[in-house]
Amino acid sequence: VTEKVQMEEKLKQLASMDGLTQIFNRTFFMRKSEMIFDKLMRSGGSISVIMFDIDYFKRINDTFGHEAGDRVLTRVTSVVKEYLLVKDCIGRYGGEEFVICMPETSLMEATNRANIIRQAIAESSTIVNGEEIVVTSSFGISNVMLEVWNDSYPIPQLIREADQALYAAKHKGRNRVEIY
Ligand code: GH3
Ligand code: MG
Ligand code: MG
Repeated sequence: VTEKVQMEEKLKQLASMDGLTQIFNRTFFMRKSEMIFDKLMRSGGSISVIMFDIDYFKRINDTFGHEAGDRVLTRVTSVVKEYLLVKDCIGRYGGEEFVICMPETSLMEATNRANIIRQAIAESSTIVNGEEIVVTSSFGISNVMLEVWNDSYPIPQLIREADQALYAAKHKGRNRVEIY
């Protein structure tokens, strides 16, 4: 029985994780962030969503190869993980686009933390075949102050808004944080 339970746990974990970066895949991130949202709604509180995307990533693949690109993705996520709190939740939203849900986090806190993460990514590097690869990333942030039992401002909307802010960050020159 124990072995069966362990196997089931393992399968559940595999189904929820992104194989390359070992963070939640998009589907599981959505489920997890909805759970975080529902829990916060019971007491009310501030919630922030950060969306970020690596700058000019296509160039990395074109210059160093897809495998090197994969290693950059793994490195970036491990750098970001160092700056997350237990209550936060991170997921791989698309190819080189990531999303972080931060409950009980004000817009100002989220902005400060996004800037710290942005800087950490820019200051880190991936060594592939003796070559040092450095990337930057752009960030978009959304936030809402949840009122008790008011779900009129749900996670998908926060994600949409963070994505729009990210788009603005790209437009304004990349390697920066923009607020919706
Ligand atoms: P921007 O600064 O506007 O974000 O430019 P970009 O080149 O990063 O954006 P674009 O969306 O044009 O390209 C993203 C690239 O990411 C294209 C795709 O080949 C690459 N990519 C997506 N997923 C993976 C992956 O898992 N591994 C690797 N190596 N590349 C990936
Ligand atoms: Mg990109
Ligand atoms: Mg992208």
